[in-house]
Amino acid sequence: MAESKKVVVVGIPGVGKTTLINKIVELIKDHNKSVKVTNFGTIMFEVAKENGVNNRDELRKLPLSEQKKLQKNAAEKLSKIDDDVVIIDTHAFIRTPEGFNPGLPYHVLQIIEPSNFISVNAKTEEIYNRRMKDETRTRDKVSIATIKKELDIQSAMMSACSVLSGSPLKHVMNSEGKLDEAADQIIKAIGL
Ligand code: ATP
Ligand code: AMP
Ligand code: MG
Repeated sequence: MAESKKVVVVGIPGVGKTTLINKIVELIKDHNKSVKVTNFGTIMFEVAKENGVNNRDELRKLPLSEQKKLQKNAAEKLSKIDDDVVIIDTHAFIRTPEGFNPGLPYHVLQIIEPSNFISVNAKTEEIYNRRMKDETRTRDKVSIATIKKELDIQSAMMSACSVLSGSPLKHVMNSEGKLDEAADQIIKAIGL
């Protein structure tokens, strides 16, 4: 049996990862491979709910030690999924009071063994507006200058992930109103 491909999709909050991944699923209905979409935060939240966490946006406010436990547990669960392609919706880092905490520290990379990294980007103003408009989530309100800084941190963190795992890193622009173009680029990068 061919090995399961683990495609890790990262991006800062509001860049459009989840929307983009939903689009990919729509576009690849007629493929001949089994594709499973997973959301790292959802897997963490399912466990956290049992301990009284009410909202996925509360996860990043938990003590760092708790977030790290949930993170390792989610990675272990993900590593057991054996569809041909497993798409993992997650973050290069999480903003915490302690600083930028890696979403994919080395020990997590060793558990998941990603085959591809997709780093989703967009114009800072577009990300700012998407965060402001989206009422389904409680996103941290930060300035456009801070969003620019976050995109730089994302790029640095993802370069480290790519070097450590020896897997390719593709940067994709999710421009306003151009979801299909961004989804196509991802599909090409993962060879679906
Ligand atoms: P989080 O990390 O917080 O889960 P996310 O990266 O998954 O965020 P989404 O929830 O997918 O972000 O998208 C945020 C908002 O941006 C949504 O309201 C979505 O409809 C909108 N959006 C995403 N991509 C585009 C696009 N290409 N053009 C216009 N709007 C978009
Ligand atoms: P999301 O819906 O992608 O924003 O995920 C919800 C929450 O899950 C995030 O705000 C983080 O607190 C947490 N999360 C997602 N991916 C990771 C990760 N790789 N490491 C640590 N926490 C994560
Ligand atoms: Mg999302």
